Amino acid sequence: MNPKTIGGSALFAQSHTDPHMGVNPSISDSSTYSFKSAQHMSDTFIGETEGMYLYSRHSSPTNNALAASLAAMEGTQDACVFGSGMGAISAVLFQLCSAGDEVVSSQTIYGGSYGLLKNFMPKFGIETRFVDFTNAEAVSQAIGPNTKVLYCETMSNPLLEITHIKAISELAEKHQLTLVVDNTFSPLIVAPATQGAHIVIHSLTKFINGTSDAIAGVVCASNEFCASLKSVMDGAAMLFGSTLDAQRAATILKNMKTLPIRMAKHSENALYIAKHLEAAGYRVSYPGLESHPGKKILEAQWVPEYGYGGLLTLDAGSSEKANALMEAMQEEGLGYLAVSLGFYKTLFSASASSTSSEISESEQKNMGLSSGLVRFSIGLDPNIVDYTNRMLRCIDQMKL
Ligand SMILES: *Cc1c(COP(=O)(O)O)cnc(C)c1O
Repeated sequence: MNPKTIGGSALFAQSHTDPHMGVNPSISDSSTYSFKSAQHMSDTFIGETEGMYLYSRHSSPTNNALAASLAAMEGTQDACVFGSGMGAISAVLFQLCSAGDEVVSSQTIYGGSYGLLKNFMPKFGIETRFVDFTNAEAVSQAIGPNTKVLYCETMSNPLLEITHIKAISELAEKHQLTLVVDNTFSPLIVAPATQGAHIVIHSLTKFINGTSDAIAGVVCASNEFCASLKSVMDGAAMLFGSTLDAQRAATILKNMKTLPIRMAKHSENALYIAKHLEAAGYRVSYPGLESHPGKKILEAQWVPEYGYGGLLTLDAGSSEKANALMEAMQEEGLGYLAVSLGFYKTLFSASASSTSSEISESEQKNMGLSSGLVRFSIGLDPNIVDYTNRMLRCIDQMKL
């Protein structure tokens, strides 16, 4: 795969073909589509006829335009967009697994994905073993005769551990498994499909849309897998119905075109803050710091101009101190006490009691998630020196 044809350049290389010569694609404003002949309709039900649409839960021109951009960015043959990141994740896992199958998953994943694998899928006879994916040997040991899927995140939530995707993909190859990677924290920074991942998922809600005004998701994969998701007979996208609205797809597609400059800036700001917090003696974790165990692993698979990402964590020591710090920062105008990530303003939340609350206290302890951990999604502030000084003043007052 030619790296120049994927990633940020791919977003700019694309030209759409709007019938009115608009610079943005037209929005398809129909839930259903007419056919010239009854034969065309029945042909379209069997497979996709070029240029023909059936019904917008299956596909629509606008959703397909967004999907095409995302497939180009990730370097996969095709993509399928969803009404949320969880809609994408659940469709993929249920498409790949049947009763009796097993998943081997990273233990540090998004709380919703964890809840799905740990609590929901066992009801359908699909069990998951959770292991440390930074340890390929542990992953290898967890693979059994019924394992079908390896599941992980490029940069894990909220601990920011980095998966060596190539090493995991070799295990997938050896055991004939499907490697599914959630790349939500690191769009453009890593293209997991170039490292051997078979299926790449994003919550578009985060960096890719970037304006915290929409919920959406995507699955980037082969033509064959995307077609299977959309099958009217047994496709999880088609049958679960977590379809993205075309009006939303259009706004996300426009926002996505500025992702390259936004990612570079999120990363530049986060690296600056992380370095200054660490120098001031605070317990900060960021993949761009020498002290981070995943730095070299990220650098072995990244596109350097997009940096080390926009997420960092600070251990405030206790949930009381974490809460006081977040409230003080919000008061000071340094961002919002809110979950989610990838916004122009900095967002912060205490992971243990919010986005990772699906994970029990003892399991949180096992994976190294402390109750005082604050996750920051660093924003796009143009004056990062001033921002950092004000943030440090807030933290100093907390006497962590
Ligand atoms: C937010 C998030 C999801 C879920 O996405 P939604 O769009 O909220 O459904 C999945 N994985 C990661 C890593 C996330 O941050």
